[in-house]
Amino acid sequence: MSSFVVALDVGGTSMKGGLVTRSGEIVRTDRRATPRDRGPAAVIATIRSFIDDLATAGGGTPEGVGLAVPGLVTAETALYSANIGWRDVPATDLVPLDVPVMLGHDVRTGGLAESVLGAGRELSDFLFLPIGTGIAGATILHGEPYGGSAGWGGEIGHIPVFPDGEPCACGQIGCLETYSSASAVARRYSTRAPASSPDAVSVTAERVAALTASGDPLAVEIWGDAVEALSLALATYTLLLDPSAIVLGGGLAEAGALLSDPLAERLQKHLAFRQAPPLRQAALGMSAGMLGAALLGWRAAGFADAGTTWSLDVLKSPRVA
Ligand SMILES: [Zn+2]
Repeated sequence: MSSFVVALDVGGTSMKGGLVTRSGEIVRTDRRATPRDRGPAAVIATIRSFIDDLATAGGGTPEGVGLAVPGLVTAETALYSANIGWRDVPATDLVPLDVPVMLGHDVRTGGLAESVLGAGRELSDFLFLPIGTGIAGATILHGEPYGGSAGWGGEIGHIPVFPDGEPCACGQIGCLETYSSASAVARRYSTRAPASSPDAVSVTAERVAALTASGDPLAVEIWGDAVEALSLALATYTLLLDPSAIVLGGGLAEAGALLSDPLAERLQKHLAFRQAPPLRQAALGMSAGMLGAALLGWRAAGFADAGTTWSLDVLKSPRVA
């Protein structure tokens, strides 16, 4: 088969791997659990064997390896992840083969994929904002993700939007994530639902979205809080960085117009003297991190322009799991 890279998106609970050719064909995808309860050494060993297995399945030596990982990261070293528990792991320790390798921050690597071949393809400056269990953003400047001076950039989920509000797990008060993440929407609904309701025990953000659409007053209020918190954070972002668009991704964005319509309206309300940037739906879904890792793998192999000619239709072919 033609030459390929191994791409890995390492998450806190599972990792998604793929083999991606120079022309952007995904010839194989696979998934493996992240054994984080067994400690960082076990996670590193699992990453190594996963890469080895994917390379073997490709029937040859990959041109390069790209990895998207959580926490603080440089292109060469995974510096720190509270989620996985590792510190200062060189990229070469994660890859069993003697091939070029490049690391990227998980959200920024997803943002890179949306920038090069997804919803931000023709945009130079935008915010990629996946809203899932947590909220973190990728600031895209001149087509490339920007991580700040030390790699802490993009932590938009911990912007204090309601300073007198609810405590966040991070130690601050009133963070965006406390109101607008998918898990916050579910948690805030279930804690206030009548004790007799099954939704008081377990409810998902998807269910709260459905209840909001059907006019359930508690759901409407909690959805409204989530939208208001997001609109305040995005107004701040817009005034600071003047993005040409805001690309919404993650589980909560699946709600479509139920989220984007009121969010666009509230965002414009908070901006008096300028037009709000348009909101767009992310194009790559849950594959953004893995595809971004493939771009890093090809960049490591010396192809800086990788991805610019890749077709979204090919990437979305049925072979993509
Ligand atoms: Zn916080």
